[in-house]
Amino acid sequence: MDLYHALSQDMIPITPKLVEIATSCDLCGCCDTQCHFVTGMRPLPVMKALKQLVRDRLQTGTPPTQVDPDPDLEVLQAVLGSRWVTNDPAVLLTYANDPYPLAGMCMPRFVAMPGTKNEVASLVRVALDRDIPYVVRGNGGSVFGFVFSQGLVIDMNRMKGIQIDLENWTAVVEPGVTAFELQQEAVRHGLRANTAEPAATVCGNIVCTGLFSTWANVYGVNADHFVDMEFVDSKGDFFRLNQSKAPNAFCFEHRLKDAPGICTQARVRLHPMTADEEGLIIPFETFEEAAAFARDLSQRRIGLALGVLGGHYLSTFMSPSAELADRVRSGLVQSLGLEYAVLMIGDSYAREAVISMGISVIDQDLFRMLMLGLPRLADGEWLDLVAGLDSEQPPYEILFSPEMRPLLEAVLQPGPETAAQAVEMDLRPFYTKLYARPEMTDMVWLTMFRIVSARMSRHKHMFAFLIYVPLHRVEVITGICTELERIAHDHGIQADFGFLTPLDLGKRAILEYDYYLDHQNPLDAEKIGRARLEFEPYLDGLSASTPGVKWLKYIFSQGCARKEAFLYT
Ligand SMILES: Cc1cc2nc3c(=O)[nH]c(=O)nc-3n(C[C@H](O)[C@H](O)[C@H](O)COP(=O)(O)OP(=O)(O)OC[C@H]3O[C@@H](n4cnc5c(N)ncnc54)[C@H](O)[C@@H]3O)c2cc1C
Repeated sequence: MDLYHALSQDMIPITPKLVEIATSCDLCGCCDTQCHFVTGMRPLPVMKALKQLVRDRLQTGTPPTQVDPDPDLEVLQAVLGSRWVTNDPAVLLTYANDPYPLAGMCMPRFVAMPGTKNEVASLVRVALDRDIPYVVRGNGGSVFGFVFSQGLVIDMNRMKGIQIDLENWTAVVEPGVTAFELQQEAVRHGLRANTAEPAATVCGNIVCTGLFSTWANVYGVNADHFVDMEFVDSKGDFFRLNQSKAPNAFCFEHRLKDAPGICTQARVRLHPMTADEEGLIIPFETFEEAAAFARDLSQRRIGLALGVLGGHYLSTFMSPSAELADRVRSGLVQSLGLEYAVLMIGDSYAREAVISMGISVIDQDLFRMLMLGLPRLADGEWLDLVAGLDSEQPPYEILFSPEMRPLLEAVLQPGPETAAQAVEMDLRPFYTKLYARPEMTDMVWLTMFRIVSARMSRHKHMFAFLIYVPLHRVEVITGICTELERIAHDHGIQADFGFLTPLDLGKRAILEYDYYLDHQNPLDAEKIGRARLEFEPYLDGLSASTPGVKWLKYIFSQGCARKEAFLYT
């Protein structure tokens, strides 16, 4: 889409690479379904239009513009070969933009894709010798304007090695390996990797955000994830964190810091799974109740992945379309009173413990029924009927009670076809096939692979606040949410609670609160720019003064730090 836009606006000429890109696409449509699943968008018509535009321009008889020779390019190509370094504007453009509303477009001079760690080190030395600024890029999934450079972008996507070491419960991964790829490989060996965003590279994710997710409850964050990591420093020399003379990346400093270097390899931890793991969702009417419950479970070591989710998260993750997510959201909250829920993945003992507490739960079977009947769940009429029941109990308790299951099944008619009704007609066969796969409604699989999480940015770009918080002080957490909501409201920004996951036996937690912006609307960029003048000093002040509060802004690039160093200062 960026390419079509740039070409139609004459930001780039027709170049040899652009012709290659346009002609090599056979319009198979694979990208259309993938992209729709995650973003709700359809790239195929844009690709067709790009092919046509390139064809039309070439028919005028003008040959593709050859790219200018550049002595720096020749030296870089001497390291990697001409195939893996380019200054073709059509390629550069695809590395020049992301949806972060506060960063403009930034065209690099070169993009290089090293294939080995020695090539990474050589690139760094060339960049140093020739004074070329550079940035390392995993998959560009951070979408915070981090992976732009006016010089060289070093894209790690060719370095895809994964070696599983069963004796040592570890995997050695290269920096191009994504969370999804590692998880797939770990599962093949009957193990689990602690990964976050599926498209994120494992190495980049550790270095950048310290890799948090609902599994952080048991597997931790930051230095908890790895046994050792290897880096190339700014001089092009290697070091490993396990060397006695290595820079101390385990320590945390309360300031903005650069990464220790380019990570070329990480030995990450793998974890055992048991065959009886399943998910439970426990609904609550208030945030305070849900947070106290999650803390209690964490403190008692009940469950594995654990998180308080808001109605927005739940409905967005579950729904095949943004429009349905909106309708479900209002149904869940307004009609059923289900404002918050605790998600727990646990073994049979953990689930028995929770069920024995006598509270209302959504178990795996009911979850599957709800997910596959989602378009009908959103139907206002029967939700109003449930909400109108004259009872002391919250409506969701009645609806989710075991006696109601046959009725629920009859009304929802759950099935892949029902779920697929949420999308446009021509996509329904694809969605029907997809939702027929058992993993697509399995809470354990969905929580491990997190392929639905990118849907968060489907209706608008997400500007996420991630803040470590003291979980025994719920008033601090609600105070942060209230203040972020107030700031958003004052600046006309849509905002919502994301999730809260206990850490370190419920002593601390990580909170996500989200702002939503239309990144293509300059007015929204202005809004967030003004809001920043309020939220930055507020979160900076709290991070400096309140024990247990630490805004992720200070953890960026310090993901190798020990969590104890920033959670207890
Ligand atoms: C919808 C959405 C959901 C998300 N959910 C989560 C989540 O649950 N948990 C979480 O932890 N994060 C989450 N993130 C953030 C994102 O996953 C991380 O920022 C992750 O690092 C992105 O990985 P990447 O490979 O795409 O990194 P990039 O965006 O390519 O790079 C991110 C940063 O890491 C640096 N970097 C990349 N590779 C290396 C390397 N090999 N060595 C040194 N530095 C490197 C880059 O220079 C850059 O500063 C989410 C993001 C989105 C958009």
